[in-house]
Amino acid sequence: MSAYDNNNIFAKILLGEIPCKKIYESDFALAFHDIHPQAPIHALVIPKGKFVDFADFSKRATEAEAAGFTKAVGIVAETVGAHHQGYRLISNCGANAHQEVPHYHVHILAGRPLGPMLNKA
Ligand code: AMP
Repeated sequence: MSAYDNNNIFAKILLGEIPCKKIYESDFALAFHDIHPQAPIHALVIPKGKFVDFADFSKRATEAEAAGFTKAVGIVAETVGAHHQGYRLISNCGANAHQEVPHYHVHILAGRPLGPMLNKA
């Protein structure tokens, strides 16, 4: 895992340098709509702290940060209405998982049947 890049796009969103369509904010998390939605509901939840990916977060986050972030994901899923029909959480971690933005985030996808977990490609 590489060092945290302060210039990644989600760091800039956290600093208010780039706008986002905000859904929710707490001391521990910020949630906003994905710019290229892959389902009728596609939200992103990011921790406020500087964490590269899930592996980094699971190692270094304080208990308050971990709990606060997990609670935020649940709150956002309800806020966007994803909980009614079910939803999928995805967190891509590293190169093989095709993580594009190196700031830990969870995708919340919902609003239609999402199909099997992975395609065969
Ligand atoms: P990942 O491949 O898991 O790193 O996902 C990164 C996600 O961030 C993709 O779904 C992008 O569409 C999304 N994304 C990139 N830039 C922005 C942005 N400025 N605002 C909202 N979502 C973004």
